[in-house]
Amino acid sequence: MKIAILPGDGIGTEIVAEAVKVLNALGLRFEMETALVGGAAFDAHGHPLPPATLKLAQEADAILFGAVGDWKYDTLDRQFRPEQAILGLRKNLGLFANFRPAICYEQLVGASSLKPELIAGLDILIIRELTGDIYFGQPRGRRVAPDGNFPGAEEAFDTMRYTRPEIERIAHVAFQAAQKRSKRVTSVDKANVLETFQFWKDVVTEVGKQYPDVALDHMYVDNAAMQLVKAPKKFDVVVTGNMFGDILSDEAAMLTGSIGMLPSASLNASNQGLYEPSHGSAPDIAGKGIANPLATILSAAMMLRFSLGQPQAADRIEAAVKTVLSQGLRTADIYSAGTRRVGTLEMGDAVVRALQT
Ligand code: NAD
Repeated sequence: MKIAILPGDGIGTEIVAEAVKVLNALGLRFEMETALVGGAAFDAHGHPLPPATLKLAQEADAILFGAVGDWKYDTLDRQFRPEQAILGLRKNLGLFANFRPAICYEQLVGASSLKPELIAGLDILIIRELTGDIYFGQPRGRRVAPDGNFPGAEEAFDTMRYTRPEIERIAHVAFQAAQKRSKRVTSVDKANVLETFQFWKDVVTEVGKQYPDVALDHMYVDNAAMQLVKAPKKFDVVVTGNMFGDILSDEAAMLTGSIGMLPSASLNASNQGLYEPSHGSAPDIAGKGIANPLATILSAAMMLRFSLGQPQAADRIEAAVKTVLSQGLRTADIYSAGTRRVGTLEMGDAVVRALQT
């Protein structure tokens, strides 16, 4: 089991260290190799995804990724910005299917900004297409003034585009995931305005005919954004494109109390996967030792289940996370009165202890 460890920037290094600690406590044999990615890689090698990092990722069974980015890179040419490393890994490894489960742990019902009755028992799965849509559209660009200055720019454009095979394969992933859950899929689109998403809707409907045991409904993205906070438990599996999925999954994160609780998996056709928390590098709290490592630890559990064939080890980690929450331990983002506030390190240590007992 070869794991590429790519901590990245900001809190990435802090939270990945805790997840590695938890993996090491399982008593399994892993081959782990660490490499720079994102801003850290740009600083050291002049590129956010250096060839050696990409090679390590390609040769691994799975990648454990922290987060990349910092405001200080915002003025760099886009190709050198840290976030390009994630897009590069997704594209090069063909990681087209992003799984973002949003589960509200009963111990954290009070940490959400929504009423407890709306989110208690919440367990939804957002499946986001990850290698198409406007984030990878061509052409893209900005028509700048003849003098090349930004203030003189006339327009900017990114092309939204999906091909039939791209929609078909993510639709199959969603229907198959639904077969293992409550057999309901909601496909989110904007078919009333965008040709791309009328096509999306048509293709998803067509694929759905191969899964007569799964109920399919369609929802416009603006309504889906509203329903997610109005009655989130109405959803089970949600499948959508790259941009809508990006936004809706962050919204769903807040249903669970904190984005620091949300793991994610991005898989390719051969189940090789990149596992990362749903949040970013949080430069505002980096280096303070207060970031919540649980999303990354839960991402490691998803890695064991999806890419490394170790479902029991995944169950053990998830049970250990529930144990520490039941013990009342909370990082700052999920803290509420009557619980005990801990830092990143202490939270990781507590999960390790829960694993061992
Ligand atoms: P962010 O997710 O980094 O932070 C949003 C808010 O959530 C911040 O207040 C942060 O402190 C908090 N937060 C995030 N993770 C947390 C954790 N584990 N524990 C406690 N609090 C946490 O999003 P942002 O501020 O919009 O972006 C910061 C940088 O991250 C940007 O450079 C952005 O491009 C990058 N980013 C990277 C990824 C990725 O690596 N996959 C994803 C999103 C954003």
